[in-house]
Amino acid sequence: MSGYDIAIVGAGIGGASLGWALLARAPALRVAMLEAEDQPGYHTTGRSAAFYAETYGGPDVQPLTTASKPFFLRPPPGFCETAIVSPRGALHIRHADAPGTLEALERTFEAGGVAHQRLGAEGVRQKLPQLRPEWATTAIWEPGCADIDVAALHQAYLRGFRRMGGELLTGARAEHIARAGRRWAIATPAGEVAAATLVNAAGAWADDVAARAGVPPIGIQPLRRTIVVVEVRPEAPADMPVVMDAGGTLYFKPDAGRLWVSPHDETPDVPHDVQPDEMDMAVALDRFEQMCDWPIRRIAAKWAGLRNFAADRLPVIGPDPAEPAFFWCAGQGGWGIQTAPAAAAMGAAMLLGEAPALDPSRYAAARLRTGAAA
Ligand SMILES: Cc1cc2nc3c(=O)[nH]c(=O)nc-3n(C[C@H](O)[C@H](O)[C@H](O)COP(=O)(O)OP(=O)(O)OC[C@H]3O[C@@H](n4cnc5c(N)ncnc54)[C@H](O)[C@@H]3O)c2cc1C
Repeated sequence: MSGYDIAIVGAGIGGASLGWALLARAPALRVAMLEAEDQPGYHTTGRSAAFYAETYGGPDVQPLTTASKPFFLRPPPGFCETAIVSPRGALHIRHADAPGTLEALERTFEAGGVAHQRLGAEGVRQKLPQLRPEWATTAIWEPGCADIDVAALHQAYLRGFRRMGGELLTGARAEHIARAGRRWAIATPAGEVAAATLVNAAGAWADDVAARAGVPPIGIQPLRRTIVVVEVRPEAPADMPVVMDAGGTLYFKPDAGRLWVSPHDETPDVPHDVQPDEMDMAVALDRFEQMCDWPIRRIAAKWAGLRNFAADRLPVIGPDPAEPAFFWCAGQGGWGIQTAPAAAAMGAAMLLGEAPALDPSRYAAARLRTGAAA
């Protein structure tokens, strides 16, 4: 049985970024990362819409997103050969019959200090001529919204982790987890691992991993979200913005001439290899056609992923209140990519007994055990 200081269960963006941050701070630490699949990123991390939107998730998520920006713009030397983020911009629209939605968003941007600009009908038409008139009377332009190269970011974390001496085991589902004295004994198909501390970065399976370790669950709920990739005529311009209905019914963004369209669904689901539902896809296409005069030629691809939430929709980063050697890195919701650098720095500092740069109390697991969730 191999012995480690820390075993991280799950090698999606949550586990990968935390593993990297731990070894970047403490190179002598012995860290293993156990991933059930042969390919890390197979589940939620590989299925995201891949954008950075600073206020997305609300005011208690924003500190993590904002604090991650410098890492995305200026990663450490040698971390990644290509740019992690590239400018995109977001156009927040609304139907003429739903005037209040943009005002609410405007207040969020103002409170968060995020650059934005109100556009009139002509400004909206210049950004996206295909919008139908009832969706194009006014909009908010968010210039700082960016695309994230999720695959490059995730691979850079994993590469850096291994380069610094971390051990990544794939095909290594943590099946049996037992407390043996002061250590965890974790049985996987790839062998048995012993570690002083277990980090639970298992995404949709976070409560399942807790149960296997004899730790009470905290109520992480997977919610399904769908993306349909469509070919449109004319092709989607490379420089068009992400377009989001401020009323939360649809968003779409360009990719290689096509559009990724999501109906903004949040259907409660169970942890599994989730597939898109035909009805969610139909809703996405119908809403798109009502919003835009932009013929769809065909569906080119489709997928669904599980966004995983605690009851108050905030991440859970920190030790379990009942079992301090069990550390939660869960509930990343719909913002786990854009918050990864700061969330990982916070988690690593806590695991190493250092003071985190951001106040971790709002993300503590204890809030979910006392019934104090908002
Ligand atoms: C459609 C969609 C759009 C999104 N858009 C964005 C966006 O634009 N921006 C953004 O920031 N975020 C976005 N997100 C959210 C983001 O993708 C997630 O927050 C993030 O990927 C969660 O990462 P994770 O590491 O927690 O989960 P995962 O990537 O699912 O990783 C968890 C890993 O744990 C492994 N595992 C589970 N159980 C075990 C076990 N017992 N033993 C070993 N391994 C185990 C799994 O195999 C999995 O690989 C989106 C999500 C979806 C679905």
